[in-house]
Amino acid sequence: MDQSIIRIIDKARGGALLDRAEIIALLSVENLSPEAFAIQQAGRAFTSELNDGYAEIHSHIGLDASPCPCDCAFCSFAVSAGVFRRKTELPLERILDEASTFDAAGVNALYLVTTARYDQEQFLDVVAAVRGVLTRDIPIVANVADFDLAYARELKAAGVAGAYHVMRLGEGTYTRCDRDARIATIEAAKEAGLVVGNCIEPIGPEHTPDELADLILLARSLEVGFSGAMRRNTIPNTAFSKYGNISYGRLATYAGSIALATGPSIRGNCTHEPSQLCAQAGANIIWAERGTSPRDVEAETLRGYSVEQCRDLYAECDWKVWDGPSRYYA
Ligand code: SF4
Repeated sequence: MDQSIIRIIDKARGGALLDRAEIIALLSVENLSPEAFAIQQAGRAFTSELNDGYAEIHSHIGLDASPCPCDCAFCSFAVSAGVFRRKTELPLERILDEASTFDAAGVNALYLVTTARYDQEQFLDVVAAVRGVLTRDIPIVANVADFDLAYARELKAAGVAGAYHVMRLGEGTYTRCDRDARIATIEAAKEAGLVVGNCIEPIGPEHTPDELADLILLARSLEVGFSGAMRRNTIPNTAFSKYGNISYGRLATYAGSIALATGPSIRGNCTHEPSQLCAQAGANIIWAERGTSPRDVEAETLRGYSVEQCRDLYAECDWKVWDGPSRYYA
């Protein structure tokens, strides 16, 4: 066993923040090595301690499947992907039905997810309607295109508790989103009182430890509500087809590394799509999904887990499931 990795693990477990070189060292260990499994075990223990042994199930309702001008090369909605050629939206009755089903199933948070073509005012109307059918005070989270401070305040006033908003891997190169606008949106969300959800994503086998470390340090500096490791589900005939997907075994080491690297003040550690290997390595936030998904080429996602499947996954990994509103959007 490489003792320098053990020293880095011990430093993180002791509550100290790792520096860039230490984070890169964790992310660079050989797959399936003793060091990789030590990181996974430590990540699990660290997240478990920070969260009293509890994990959360969040839920995602994808509201539209439109060819999106942001053209993120990892997304099935990207206009250049050619998967979705016309704009389709979930009817409001269907959104409310899905929200009620997730509510009854006991999810800890509900995300409303759109492409960049979804109308902002329409989104506020949907939020108000969804809030009206929820029987529990679970946070509603907006996963939408970039916005300014005025709109962030409108989201907050409409009853939104948080925004999932991320500087993605390859932002500005493999997307048509402006990197400064992504940061400005996150700052606006925080100023308006929205908690910002984060993940290091979407990770493929070609991404280097340096690239991942940059985003981990950015997440730390932005004081996000939680972070984690999400893999890219590679859409056919895109710039990433030649790379394919990273294995969940490798992603599990990143999940453990990110848990340790984000430090004790970022308690939650998400992963997507749901994976037992990543949950075993410390991921304690996973998503059930309905409606549209940027990882699926079907308009109604067939990839998304149900809440019951998420519960089963956690049970297999000996996580307790938190009962009540998410602790990360409080
Ligand atoms: S990831 Fe979001 S912004 Fe980018 S193309 Fe897909 S829907 Fe549009």
